[in-house]
Amino acid sequence: MVVKVNELTMQEQLGMTSHHPRWAIAFKFKARQATTQLRSVEFQVGRTGAVTPVAKLDPVFLGGVTVSSISAHNEEYIREKDLKIGDHVLIERAGDVIPQIVKSLTELRTGNEKSIEFPKTCPVCNSLLFKEETEAVWRCINIECEAQVVEKIIHFVSKDAMDIKSFGDANVRKFYELGILKDIPGIYQLPFETIGTIEGFGKKSIDNLQAAIEGSMQQPLHRLIYGLGIRFVGETTAKTLANAVENIFDFISKTEEDLLILEDVGVKVAKSIHEFFKNEQNIKMLQALEQIGLQLKNIKKESTGKDSLGGQTFLFTGTLAQLKRSDAEAMVEANGGKIVTGVSSKLNYLIVGDDAGSKLEKAKKINTIKIISEVEFLQLIEQNN
Ligand SMILES: [Zn+2]
Repeated sequence: MVVKVNELTMQEQLGMTSHHPRWAIAFKFKARQATTQLRSVEFQVGRTGAVTPVAKLDPVFLGGVTVSSISAHNEEYIREKDLKIGDHVLIERAGDVIPQIVKSLTELRTGNEKSIEFPKTCPVCNSLLFKEETEAVWRCINIECEAQVVEKIIHFVSKDAMDIKSFGDANVRKFYELGILKDIPGIYQLPFETIGTIEGFGKKSIDNLQAAIEGSMQQPLHRLIYGLGIRFVGETTAKTLANAVENIFDFISKTEEDLLILEDVGVKVAKSIHEFFKNEQNIKMLQALEQIGLQLKNIKKESTGKDSLGGQTFLFTGTLAQLKRSDAEAMVEANGGKIVTGVSSKLNYLIVGDDAGSKLEKAKKINTIKIISEVEFLQLIEQNN
């Protein structure tokens, strides 16, 4: 349940953080609990190489969903919770989000429980795992580790990064297994004829995928930086970084001290960014992306400083009744929106005037595009001012 302030002027005064409005808050229900048995532990490798133990449980119904696996975070967590394979465990979903293990019910032990052995080598590529003194997490530091490569590509195409719709985890894994996608630049060199022969790929889904990939080439620099998956660089930091340079390659010559001047960038973050741009392979990847035609420059948008449309994209079609087309487009840009030239999954709003033609038909097929009238467009501008 979400509790909101319903007075619009108060909403405006309260404003937003970079993540959520201050005038709305989730009302969390009391945790719901259940007991089940821990059957095994699997070790998964994430995109930063972190090895995470995942507890596999006897499926149990909890707060509306069936839970059969839960992250056991790290070695220390397992020790603190005193978890053993075969244990009865108490689990809960607080506020109906991610389930957690509360504790093991040690009084129910039979003596047949087995302790959880943490691997010394990566479960995917077999190289030795490392742990920094200040960290609780074991990592695979082999940058060619298959698991990390796949997770990095998944992160790059994800919604908050390059937002390549209709790509998704499953396709990344499938293309990787088939050997037709090996790294991030490979996203832009997919052999679509080959993909056409894969079961489940019709002409329409290939067209959509191709359009989404092409559309992503013009994503703003901050999305690309976030998509690179540099450790400790979240969306907000990625925006700060994008605004600090004219071109992504400017980071190569920046020292940790240079980076520390930036807002939100502490020692840990500066070190991580510096390391990323010191790595030759990373630079080669960026050069490959540049050659393919991705946007690696920071296009500073010309606007009145207003950003109420938050970089969303607009396209007009047909004859407008009240506004001149050029005036309408200027209104979009003055409010921090962007005008695009064609209908693709990158488009957020299509404003439809009289006698609209093929653009409208095309937009109807992409269900993420909001199709609105001129009047609705004017209301949208007004609401945001
Ligand atoms: Zn590995």
